[in-house]
Amino acid sequence: MIAWKCFEMHSHTRHSDGEFTPEELLRYARKFLYDGIALTDHNTMSGLDALGPEEERIPVLPGIEWTTYYGHMLVLGADTYVDWRSARPDTIDEYTGAIKRAGGLIGIAHPFNLGGPLCTGCHWDFQVKNWDNIDYIEVWSEPHPQRHFKNHLAFQWWTDLLNQGRRLAATAGWDWHGPAEPGQTLPSATWLGLREGDFRLAGLREALGAGRVLVSSGPFPDIRLLQGEKRLYPGDTLERGPFHLRVAVDDTKRRAIWDSFDIRTERLCLVHNGKPVKSVPAASPWEESFDLAPGWIRLEGYGSLKADQDQLLFFSSPYYLG
Ligand SMILES: [Zn+2]
Ligand SMILES: [Zn+2]
Repeated sequence: MIAWKCFEMHSHTRHSDGEFTPEELLRYARKFLYDGIALTDHNTMSGLDALGPEEERIPVLPGIEWTTYYGHMLVLGADTYVDWRSARPDTIDEYTGAIKRAGGLIGIAHPFNLGGPLCTGCHWDFQVKNWDNIDYIEVWSEPHPQRHFKNHLAFQWWTDLLNQGRRLAATAGWDWHGPAEPGQTLPSATWLGLREGDFRLAGLREALGAGRVLVSSGPFPDIRLLQGEKRLYPGDTLERGPFHLRVAVDDTKRRAIWDSFDIRTERLCLVHNGKPVKSVPAASPWEESFDLAPGWIRLEGYGSLKADQDQLLFFSSPYYLG
């Protein structure tokens, strides 16, 4: 059985340039109703040692944000530390290979942040040749992700890479550096589909590595995709032939966090190889069968957010079509 749990996937403490102690970060994470968090300080993992005992806190995915002159990269759950200091744009594949051998997951952080001289290294300039080493792209960065043009660019880049045949999940990351209050800040959640709700490191790695990922800044999309008797999840590969899709929008999960932003889901859209196949009103569960050519599909949900209309509110990582 798969249980969906929500995470904040990009956070900092005083061990780099954040304002929180690690304990404060976890306290705030609970306040924002996250089930778990990825701790990703710049070029250090020392904050992990300052966390309390595992049984007394929410689960933490151990990580580090490689902070280099050529881009920022999130490395999660690696068994050993891989030194980032001599990575160059044309040698990045060697380093991502070493991280994969250490069991780590790799995400490209905020690829379209402005770079130097404003923020040296914040823009992604590494030349990835081996995309098999990259697990995901952080396509939504910062709270209220719809407001940031960089996120539109990142979402389009992800779509283009999927169209080129890459297999990549997508996440949201607050890039959380300091205190904030629910109701004033609208952070997103990255939902991981955990097997048997397995919160241990192996379970978190398995879910993210498989691409069993949903992203939302509001309601939760409950997607049931069936092929025959078999239920499939984002990251899975469907066989050729028809499949049945059922989507219901769950307005109850984390509602206290997004309720004051007047979020209303208005339409659901199935995207196939980068193009919408069908868009329907979100009023009731959507049930429909499809038979599509090879490639990939993604569910997207749109609606109003305060005065802004037709905003992307949530999306799934891709299902692949064989
Ligand atoms: Zn960064
Ligand atoms: Zn960061």
